[in-house]
Order: sequence, then structure tokens, then C-alpha cells
Amino acid sequence: MQAITRVAELRHALAEARKEGKRVGLVPTMGYLHEGHLALVQASRTRSDITVLSIFVNPTQFGPNEDLSTYPRDFIRDEQLCRNAGVAILFAPDAREVYPTTFETFVEPGDLAMPLCGAYRPGHFRGVATVVCKLFNMVQPDLAFFGQKDFQQCAVVRRMTVDLDLPVNIVTIPTVREPDGLAMSSRNRYLSEEGRRRAVTISRGLLAAADKFRSGERDVEKLIAIAKEQLNRVDRVQYLELVDAHTLKAAESPLQRPAALCAAAYVGSTRLIDNVILSLPTPDGKRSLGD
Ligand code: AMP
Repeated sequence: MQAITRVAELRHALAEARKEGKRVGLVPTMGYLHEGHLALVQASRTRSDITVLSIFVNPTQFGPNEDLSTYPRDFIRDEQLCRNAGVAILFAPDAREVYPTTFETFVEPGDLAMPLCGAYRPGHFRGVATVVCKLFNMVQPDLAFFGQKDFQQCAVVRRMTVDLDLPVNIVTIPTVREPDGLAMSSRNRYLSEEGRRRAVTISRGLLAAADKFRSGERDVEKLIAIAKEQLNRVDRVQYLELVDAHTLKAAESPLQRPAALCAAAYVGSTRLIDNVILSLPTPDGKRSLGD
């Protein structure tokens, strides 16, 4: 595995691979890797010849009072995990490499970035779209892998890719969970033992609603109420919304199109997000959304 910090070096390493006709897969991350990230690597390895994993804690997607400076970092451990997982290139640029002092051009997402996290984290998806666009240009991957855990991020990135004609295929991978259901996240590291026990109620609520959906419940209010009932042990629910999976606008009862039940909640000062996709089986027995 090559560990690279400079864009010029990255381009050089990838030019060789491309000359040999290899398919390049990109897994963008902010590091402090866990099984969720490694599932993306695994997916990339099955579909590409070379997997590039990027680690970059992107300052432009953090608000002024968010956790940019305290975001968990452990490069040595991440490097070892990447090596073991079969990553070919670990790209870990520093902030100046990505954003030189002259930097002033951003990608501005549209309506998909407005609800859910976008409503509470102004500028977040502008930062995400900008850095993902830049990573696509630096790596020029054939495929790029994202986790459903960040459902709105997937929607914004997919739309950007279409709108800006970026020649990359976006692949979404289901959320990897701890055995008790908690969605894996680098931010779980912030939780105390007691907070960890309460955090699981987020996934418990969402998964309970998904269960009810599977057994036929189609009423939006009822599905939200089922999730809410379980979500009583977090300190604050920032949002709990059932949205159309494609437009991210409020879903209508009875559910007839794929929807996503999305939550953001605080346990202490830790903000966690999670979601489940509620999709109806199509007549041919397949699910109508790629989950
Ligand atoms: P992050 O490092 O948190 O920015 O995440 C990097 C990528 O990993 C994003 O595409 C996330 O959606 C994905 N990811 C994070 N957590 C999980 C998870 N539990 N399961 C699947 N993918 C995940």
C-alpha cells in the first residue's frame, strides 16, 4: 500500500494504474476507521482493481461551533486497517493541499441540501459537495463508494454527479451496525458507557418503525410515532422525519413511494444520525430502491 499526501504524487501513482487499464474505486472518509468504512473498501475491492481510500477531515463542512478540532484521529491505526483491508493507495492530504490560501470556488448544492441535516448545519453540504468534487477530480475514479448511513449526503453527491456530468458511478452501501443496532460512526467514540447505552435507542426506534412498515403500516404519523416512542432516552431529538427517498421532501400518507425515516439526536454533546429506508416491494419481487 502507498500512503500519499500530495495530489501530484497521487496523479502519478494513478496514471501508472490507468495505463494498465485498471478500474479505480474511491472511498472518501474522514478517518478514524471502523467496520462501516471497511465495508466500503470491501465493496470497492470487489468492483475495482485499485482502491483509493482518502482520509481528510474537511474543514469546509464543519460549522463554527462543531467538532472539527476534536474530531477523532488515529492515522497509525487507520493506516494499518487500510493495509489489512487491501487498500492500494491511502490518500491523506493536509488542509493546505486541498485548500490553498487562494482557494475561493465552491460547489453549491440545491434543494436536496436544504432539509434534515442541511436545516441544522448551514453550509455543511456545500462543504461536502466541494470536497467530494475535488476528490473526484484528484483521483478520477471509475466508481466511488458511500454509506447509506449518511443518506442525505448520498443524495447530494449523486445529484452533483449528474448535474455536473462527473464521469463516476456512485455506489451506496447499507449501514453497518453494532450487534445491538447502533450505526457505526467515528463519533461513537465520544460516548461515555452510559451514553452508549442510551444512543442505541436511535437505531431501536428506526428499526422498530421499519419492522412495522414491513408488516404493512403505511401511515406516516404512526411510523414516526413508533420511532419516537423508543427515542426517549437521548438528550435531544434534533429531527425525526419521514421523507421521500428521492426528493427528501416530507412523505405523504399512505406511503406509496420509497421513503427514508431519518433521525439526528444528541447524546450529551454528541450528535448522531441514522436512517432506515422504507421501500415497497415492486411487482417483480425486487425492492424499488437499491437497498
Ligand atoms: P465519514 O468518515 O464518517 O465521513 O464516512 C465516510 C464514508 O463512510 C461515508 O460514505 C459514510 O456514509 C460511510 N459510513 C460511515 N459510517 C458508516 C456505517 N456505519 N455503515 C456504512 N457506511 C458508513
